[in-house]
Amino acid sequence: MAETRAGGPVIALVGNPNVGKSTVFNALTGLKQHTGNWPGKTVSTARGEYTYHGRRYTLVDLPGTYSLTPGSADEEVTRDYLLSGQADVTLVVADATCLARNLALVLQVLETCWPVVVCVNLLDEAAKKHIQVDLTALQDRLGCPVVGASARDGYGLAALRGVLEEAVLHPLPRPTPVLCTGCACGCEDCRAAAFVARAAAIAEEAVTMDQARAQRRDRLLDRLLTSRATGIPVMLALLAGILWLTMAGANVPSELLSNLLFSWQEPLRGLLHNLGAPWWLEGAVVDGIYRTVAWVVSVMLPPMAIFFPLFTLLEDAGYLPRVAFNLDHFFQRAGAHGRQALTMCMGLGCNACGVMGCRIIQSPRERLIAILTNAFVPCNGRFPTLIALISLFFVTGTGLWSDLGAAALLMGAIVLAVAMTLWASRLLSATVLRGQPSAFSLELPPYRTPQVGQVLLRSLLDRTAFVLGRAVAVAAPAGLLIWAAANVAVGGASVLSRLAGFLDPLGRFLGMDGFILLAFLLGFPANEIVVPCILMGYLAAGSLTGYGSLGELHALLTANGWTAATAACVLLFTLFHFPCGTTCLTIWRETRSLKWTALAVALPTAVGMGLCAAVNLLCQIL
Ligand code: GDP
Repeated sequence: MAETRAGGPVIALVGNPNVGKSTVFNALTGLKQHTGNWPGKTVSTARGEYTYHGRRYTLVDLPGTYSLTPGSADEEVTRDYLLSGQADVTLVVADATCLARNLALVLQVLETCWPVVVCVNLLDEAAKKHIQVDLTALQDRLGCPVVGASARDGYGLAALRGVLEEAVLHPLPRPTPVLCTGCACGCEDCRAAAFVARAAAIAEEAVTMDQARAQRRDRLLDRLLTSRATGIPVMLALLAGILWLTMAGANVPSELLSNLLFSWQEPLRGLLHNLGAPWWLEGAVVDGIYRTVAWVVSVMLPPMAIFFPLFTLLEDAGYLPRVAFNLDHFFQRAGAHGRQALTMCMGLGCNACGVMGCRIIQSPRERLIAILTNAFVPCNGRFPTLIALISLFFVTGTGLWSDLGAAALLMGAIVLAVAMTLWASRLLSATVLRGQPSAFSLELPPYRTPQVGQVLLRSLLDRTAFVLGRAVAVAAPAGLLIWAAANVAVGGASVLSRLAGFLDPLGRFLGMDGFILLAFLLGFPANEIVVPCILMGYLAAGSLTGYGSLGELHALLTANGWTAATAACVLLFTLFHFPCGTTCLTIWRETRSLKWTALAVALPTAVGMGLCAAVNLLCQIL
């Protein structure tokens, strides 16, 4: 019985992806569970609690799902939980703007469990689209309580709490199910079709809408954003716009931040000195830890603080599934799954997240292709390196034109990364992962006006702070390690220069040098620290003493033999090399196979080495 459970009655929360389930969960429990709009983000279940009329309720947020017929891992989690009978009440959240589609899941849930409460969310969006939902008629047809809500504004939540309490204390008798058996064979496909048909019939009775007006805006937008003629050009223009804003906006704050942080370096040294710290402690703290962290913060923070919110705005408005739609055709031709376009976009944020997101792909073959090629797109940890290289060696000067040029180059790098992703997918599907691409249906969710304030806050707090925190956590010990390696001598030369010397021939063959290769190896825990590692290597080798501005940096690099060709090779190797430690670990967790993890490391590294060697050779010939 519900009352005897330790955390009070348990309410399971289910719904299609993107219907506001997490918003309802957060509003009821007062928690701040972060969500994005792409499918696959809520991969595990979240729990929260709230108290109502002195009674504690436990809310379990299950992964978003379109049906209870297990296809993906997420759907299986949801179905198994509902079948386990652990919940006292099941709350299904549905989207008022596309109720017919949502009701198919409601009907399946009604067949599986009882008591059930339905929350018709997004009533405000529905009203904007001239869609009216007759909640009473819906309740009659379904035979379970129905509550209307606009969870984002808090509307309907008080009523929802009351109805949930009622369902726990005085559940209605279970209605005789209208069996959705479909045809005589009763196979899964026929049953699914029967659910869809019955859902459509109920929606027909309960929803009134002015069809033309309801979807006019979305139709117009879709015509622009997904049609053959304009879909891809608009996508590239949006990407270019975001990159331009990022590059143009990040320069000045980066410079300011770097001046500020480096102006504290000598006072910090002085302070340690006055405290009587030995030379090695002073060096380790100031030249090792502080310098590396200052670089990481000043170079990474500004672009991330611009890029993440812009990306989240697009995500929130419902644009990302359209990207998948536009690229679907290319992925199909590469023998991969259309949804890989989505996991690739997630990889732009973080490759480990992208790899985890591959759970949305059901076929094991296509999922593996998506996992193995995810690191071909540069994650946010690599963006600052790309940006720094481009502004140091390829587009110098300031002003609108150089910013635009830099953005164009960065976009070129991303387009190359996408092209290589497709090529590698094609290669895999023609060799070790042979098979037919499976058909899939991609839901294009309705567009929504994003909540700008909330998006800014969420992306700054969640993503920016998270990525930066991780980078700093890795940068500090890495800085210390390099400093130590530079200052511990074995047989007359420092450990650092010995290692770099060992790697030098290979580095030169690839158009780089030993210090650069060493920095990539040291950057294995987090790509963010590759450039600071290179600099630390050069500085420790004693060529120059200070760096802060881009000008000084350029001087330091050229003094160590860098040319545009070196920068090009470093840029290529930044794009294509082994995934970072976190990503490797995630790949292993997702595949449980050393073989596939090794391939995921070897494939991009081989591509990067091949490209670098080719560019180097070409430059030498020219
Ligand atoms: P989930 O995927 O079902 O967990 O959906 P989320 O809770 O992440 O919500 C998806 C998007 O819909 C977010 O941008 C929410 O801010 C937005 N949203 C949720 N509820 C409402 C609502 O009642 N009205 C409006 N206009 N937007 C909402």
